[in-house]
Amino acid sequence: MLVFSVETSCDETSVCIMNSDKKILSHIVYSQDFHTKHGGVVPELASRAHLEILQTITKNAFNDACKKPGDIDVYSATCGPGLIGGLLIGSTYAKSLSIGSNKPFVPINHLEGHIFSTSYNNDITYPHLSLLVTGGHTQIYLTKNINSIDLIGDTIDDAVGEAFDKVAKLLGLPYPGGKEIEERAKKGDEKKFKLPLPLIKKDNFNFSFSGLKTAVNLTLKKNVINEKIINDMCASFQKCIAEILYFKLKKTTNTLIEDNINITSVSLVGGVANNKYIQSKLFNICKDQNIELMLPIKEMISDNAAMIAWACILKNKKRKNKLLFNPNPRLTINNM
Ligand code: ZN
Repeated sequence: MLVFSVETSCDETSVCIMNSDKKILSHIVYSQDFHTKHGGVVPELASRAHLEILQTITKNAFNDACKKPGDIDVYSATCGPGLIGGLLIGSTYAKSLSIGSNKPFVPINHLEGHIFSTSYNNDITYPHLSLLVTGGHTQIYLTKNINSIDLIGDTIDDAVGEAFDKVAKLLGLPYPGGKEIEERAKKGDEKKFKLPLPLIKKDNFNFSFSGLKTAVNLTLKKNVINEKIINDMCASFQKCIAEILYFKLKKTTNTLIEDNINITSVSLVGGVANNKYIQSKLFNICKDQNIELMLPIKEMISDNAAMIAWACILKNKKRKNKLLFNPNPRLTINNM
């Protein structure tokens, strides 16, 4: 089976051709860097950029793979959650190709794309936990099997990636904030500023990050901002984020063990999983608890069409045509 997939839920325009033996024949990710000058993703501009580039990268993908549209068995696209303009463009584009080639169209949930991304390069024993950390989500999922996924923890306000962006803005650093903060943190003192750890004592698996931004703002107002203060704040903030994720993951695995749900592996997925400092902190807690920490292959960490193709291959054994499925910007894990 040969799958063509499209991902356009935010500011990455991506297409992939993958076969059911997991071979990636071509994978192109076009990142819309121009949002940097606006300090965040502008949905209307993102939609237009998806529309402008999709045809070019599709042609390139078919050339790279030495395939024609008629060779594809299934067309798939992210149908939510995400920005509605981008979702409509990507899914309509994939649907048009599927109609033109008389092949089925399969909608894919972006969250499932991230959650299943680690199963591409790891053998997963279920039940399995996934910590999804992105600019739009900070969630913990318990996957019992590939058709049964429960959301067990969620952020009650900002997502972790959003917190990185907002703190970067307070520090006068460019958007997106994640990479910049991680680089600056290497030169800073992580013990310099003591920031709060919201909700870590609460008896649930939820997160809160909006108070952190306020705490950073108040701390900065008491200091003369210079390069050293910026680097120290980046290090202190990153340490604080890693600790929150660390405590919540530990609470979740301990609680599940008490409930006789034996977790042997945890996936760290989504764009924030690129952060090496967070990776190493979580790696340590998992090692302590005899749990294997799994990461996707590098090209499946940030938003990409390869994880969409893989989710399609993994989930769609029956190849059901769902041409009438409408994209949903607030699609949840059990909506489809
Ligand atoms: Zn994503």
